[in-house]
Amino acid sequence: MSSDYIKRMSDALRSGAKMLSEVCPVCSSPLFEIGGEMRCLRCDKPVVRVREESEVYVASTPLVLTQLENAIVAKLDALTALLQQTTEPEEIKQLSETLTSLVKLFHESRKLGETFRKQ
Ligand SMILES: [Zn+2]
Repeated sequence: MSSDYIKRMSDALRSGAKMLSEVCPVCSSPLFEIGGEMRCLRCDKPVVRVREESEVYVASTPLVLTQLENAIVAKLDALTALLQQTTEPEEIKQLSETLTSLVKLFHESRKLGETFRKQ
């Protein structure tokens, strides 16, 4: 446990924060309710519940993006191998379209990830 985390936790408890039964989706530390906001004190980030069924966590977003980027790179690799092998115009067209959208998605993910890392 880092001393920053312990300090944040004792500050939070002193200022009347409530420890919740829910845990952080990223680090599994208990979440705290501080001034009407749910926070993970270890990640030092707010955790936001968007909908009851599908919960989107601000704290886990960079992790999700990293997983997405890894998946895209793996697909780009596999599709490039296919592209190298094929001489079928229709297949080449399909592959290039898919590669183009994957590259775009990768760039979008990187951009989005950067705005989170800046916070
Ligand atoms: Zn956390």
